[in-house]
Amino acid sequence: MTRSVYLSMGSNVGDRAAHLRAALSDLDRVLTVRRISSLYRTDPVGVTDQPEFLNLAVEAETDLEPFELLAAVKQVEHDVGRRPTFRWGPRVVDLDILLYHDLVLETPELTIPHPELTRRAFVLLPLAEIAPRLIHPVEHRTIADLAATAPGSAGVHRLDAPQPFKPDSA
Ligand code: ATP
Ligand code: CA
Ligand code: CA
Repeated sequence: MTRSVYLSMGSNVGDRAAHLRAALSDLDRVLTVRRISSLYRTDPVGVTDQPEFLNLAVEAETDLEPFELLAAVKQVEHDVGRRPTFRWGPRVVDLDILLYHDLVLETPELTIPHPELTRRAFVLLPLAEIAPRLIHPVEHRTIADLAATAPGSAGVHRLDAPQPFKPDSA
């Protein structure tokens, strides 16, 4: 069964945009990428003594079950060059599953919706660009509404306009 899923991507090491592009085309081999937000330049949150991030949000369709999807995104992270460091530290690429259709799941390995989604402007603002009317299945509020009230939005700057994503076209 095909379901809509929403992912966030971030990078703050090396050629950040190239890492995100590589992750997008790798991801598009295991699921169907439908929409991609603009790139956002964002101040680091939590561990603030590290380079700025580039972030974006992705809408995709997939037949993968939630844990299969988690394994797939971890494989993409590894393929693009991420290696384990400390949590919230600098990374080549970070891929988080934000929403999986209307699923609510809480396990040690996988929590959906992503537990920090409602608190992170650097995730909500890109997501609101591609899915403003989407309803958060726990908060029962739209993504646009959550984005409008998210703390830290002053540190989130939209860069380029959305790019058409056609990895297979010449
Ligand atoms: P945060 O989760 O606060 O954004 P992080 O992205 O830096 O932190 P990671 O080191 O990338 O954390 O991942 C830690 C673990 O989180 C992963 O190994 C994964 O099993 C787990 N995890 C739980 N829920 C999710 C989710 N919705 N998407 C991705 N990983 C998740
Ligand atoms: Ca993350
Ligand atoms: Ca992660």
